[in-house]
This record gives sequence, C-alpha cells and structure tokens, in this order.
Amino acid sequence: MSHRRDFDVVVVGAGFAGSTFARVAAQQGACGLLLENSSDVGQVVHSTGVLIAEVLELTHIPQSILLDPVHTFHIYPPDRRRIALNGPGFRYWMSNPAGLLRGLAEAATAAGSELQTDARFTQAQSNSGGVIVTCCGSFSCEACCIRCRLERQCLVCCGSACRAWAG
Ligand SMILES: Cc1cc2nc3c(=O)[nH]c(=O)nc-3n(C[C@H](O)[C@H](O)[C@H](O)COP(=O)(O)OP(=O)(O)OC[C@H]3O[C@@H](n4cnc5c(N)ncnc54)[C@H](O)[C@@H]3O)c2cc1C
Repeated sequence: MSHRRDFDVVVVGAGFAGSTFARVAAQQGACGLLLENSSDVGQVVHSTGVLIAEVLELTHIPQSILLDPVHTFHIYPPDRRRIALNGPGFRYWMSNPAGLLRGLAEAATAAGSELQTDARFTQAQSNSGGVIVTCCGSFSCEACCIRCRLERQCLVCCGSACRAWAG
C-alpha cells in the first residue's frame, strides 16, 4: 500500500551520517523521515569501528559501545605499504560499530525524527508542491515536502545511498 505523508526533510540511510543528520535536523525543529534499506539498523556495517577520540567530543556516542582505547593502528593503502597512525595527538577508541549505528538512530528518533526500516529509497521527483520521495520495501510511501521551509534542500542522501539517488 502506498500512502503520502509530508515531511520537512527525508534522510536516506540510517548510517553514521544519516542518523546524525536526522538527529540534528529534528533538534532544529524539522519534521524528518529517516529511511533505512535494511530491516534493522546496524544490520549492514561498513566499518571496522575505530573512532578517533575527537568524534566522542563532537557527537553523541553512547559509552556502552566503546570497547578499548587504541594507541596505534595500521592502515594498508592499495600499494600495501603499512602506515602506522600513532604518536602525540593520535587517540583512538575501538567501538562496536553495529551498536554505534543503533545508538545514533535511537538518538535521532528520541529527537523526533521518524525511522522507517526495510524502506529502500528508490526515487525523488520535484514538482511545484515540493519533492516526491518514493521508497519500497515493507514501508512503501510517497513522502512529499510541501511544508519544506528549507526550500528544496529537503532531500538528503547519505553514504552509499547517494549513488542510488544520483541514478
Ligand atoms: C572495510 C571498511 C572499514 C572501515 N573502517 C573504518 C573505521 O574503523 N573507522 C572509521 O572512522 N571509518 C571506517 N571506514 C569508513 C566508514 O565506514 C565510512 O566513512 C562510513 O561508513 C560512511 O558513513 P555513511 O553514513 O556516509 O554511509 P554508510 O555507513 O555506508 O551508511 C549508508 C546507509 O544507507 C543505507 N542505504 C543505502 N542505500 C539505501 C537506499 N536506497 N535506501 C535506504 N537506505 C539505503 C545502508 O543500508 C546504510 O545503512 C571503513 C570503511 C570500510 C569500507
């Protein structure tokens, strides 16, 4: 069943960026919809979970998802040289990335954004009344942004979803 609902902002993907944006948008008073393709937030994780310590100061990271401090971590660029990231000023934490994704989505809904999982964004079309956003999955709807006070900046893509929207 497809039904139409109005939002100020539609965020595609409850990843690190999407959920954080949806929380901040709700805290700014926007009526937001956060669409996530997977049936559970954190089901798909694109991260090892190493956090630079500054992230803890910048955003809402539940203490419960932090594991251990990391003093050095190595990255291997395509040429396979090992690069050690350590020394003064380098501070990291190992985290539970799936727990972090769930925690960020919970903070977005606690701030007032609506989360819909199993909702794959498929299309956005703008018309005189705003932007019609269509998604499919168990949550299938047309979200329109008639009341968009932000003019047409009401569709925000996050992470891999950008590629989907750009078609
Ligand atoms: C192997 C690997 C390890 C990494 N390790 C680290 C690390 O340790 N520390 C670190 O800081 N960074 C790490 N990164 C980088 C980090 O994972 C990315 O920068 C981060 O995931 C980007 O977050 P995002 O929210 O933009 O996108 P994503 O995390 O990709 O989230 C996008 C979300 O959108 C959903 N989605 C996609 N298409 C649609 C659609 N059409 N409709 C609805 N939902 C959709 C996806 O299911 C997903 O939940 C790593 C990356 C990789 C590949």
